[in-house]
Amino acid sequence: MTDQRMLTGDRPTGKLHLGHFVGSLENRVRLQHQYETYLIIADLHMLTTKNTREDIAQVSENARHLVIDSLAAGIEPDRATFYLQSAIPEVMELNTLFQNLVSVPRLERTPSLKDMARDAKKDEMPYGLLGYPVLQAADILCVKAHVVPVGKDNHAHVEITREIARRFNHLYGEVFPVPELVTSDVPTLIGTDGQGKMSKSIGNVIYLSDTEAEVRKKVTGMYTDPNRIRADIPGKVEGNPVFIYHDVFNKNLAEVADLKERYQAGKVGDVEVKEKLAIAINLFLDPMRERRAKFESQTGLIDQIIVEGTEKTRKEVQQVVFEVRKAMGLTGA
Ligand code: ATP
Ligand code: MG
Repeated sequence: MTDQRMLTGDRPTGKLHLGHFVGSLENRVRLQHQYETYLIIADLHMLTTKNTREDIAQVSENARHLVIDSLAAGIEPDRATFYLQSAIPEVMELNTLFQNLVSVPRLERTPSLKDMARDAKKDEMPYGLLGYPVLQAADILCVKAHVVPVGKDNHAHVEITREIARRFNHLYGEVFPVPELVTSDVPTLIGTDGQGKMSKSIGNVIYLSDTEAEVRKKVTGMYTDPNRIRADIPGKVEGNPVFIYHDVFNKNLAEVADLKERYQAGKVGDVEVKEKLAIAINLFLDPMRERRAKFESQTGLIDQIIVEGTEKTRKEVQQVVFEVRKAMGLTGA
């Protein structure tokens, strides 16, 4: 255990799914043993795409989902500090101070901007969406994080954070570590529809909290090789979502090799491939189901984790912002 920190997290827009797990959560579970761990519940980031009263009313329930899903996935409440972004106004202060350390064209080149703006018409793209990476820099640097495990859609944001940290240190003196991106083996998990990344707004997801029956149903409906209309036609394994999932989630490597071989030879039907995949995903989720049940039985635990974590984080952030103001000479005198 170093005294260095990890910062990452999620927008409270729903439950966590397998894409979140392989893109970031799995690394969090591993790194929590080496780093002091901060997990942000990023409700201000949610506002860039969802900002009605109804959306905001969902935050507290979704925040609880994030925490319980994380604990189920193996985050230990004694090791990780969860906090609610909007309850730490000093983060917004840092956001304001960082806004002048990055150019508009640099932000406009952020690759995820197009995906994020999917729902907004071009001339209606909110200013906050352009500034998303700046706010994310404030999140990462407000606790002086050294490592940031995130999925592919966030890689470019971490790069901007690194640039902002360097720029700040150059202008005002060494205050921030330049944080390292931690990538995963599966930087983007494809959705069950085989169309794009697994994303709850598209609905092509398997949730960590899905029951065995839900997993079976979703896997049965999965997209496979579109050119293979009968089981005796040789099928394609590469890029086939069912086999991508087998590779990621099925620990029985001999079974996966056998299925691939028979699929390519036209000697196995989709039904068997999917049945075995559903079993594998359910085996993968079983330990999470056990941990979930254990944590759910502890009344008040989740609320306590969020309230205490937010209090603790706010104190840390206030220290950092004090240091930032001092370095910049913004002491109010
Ligand atoms: P969704 O698209 O389902 O609404 P999201 O993109 O809003 O999810 P975030 O809270 O922005 O979720 O992301 C949380 C973390 O999970 C980020 O590190 C992100 O890169 C990662 N992530 C989300 N979806 C995937 C995926 N399909 N594959 C890999 N990583 C993912
Ligand atoms: Mg996202």
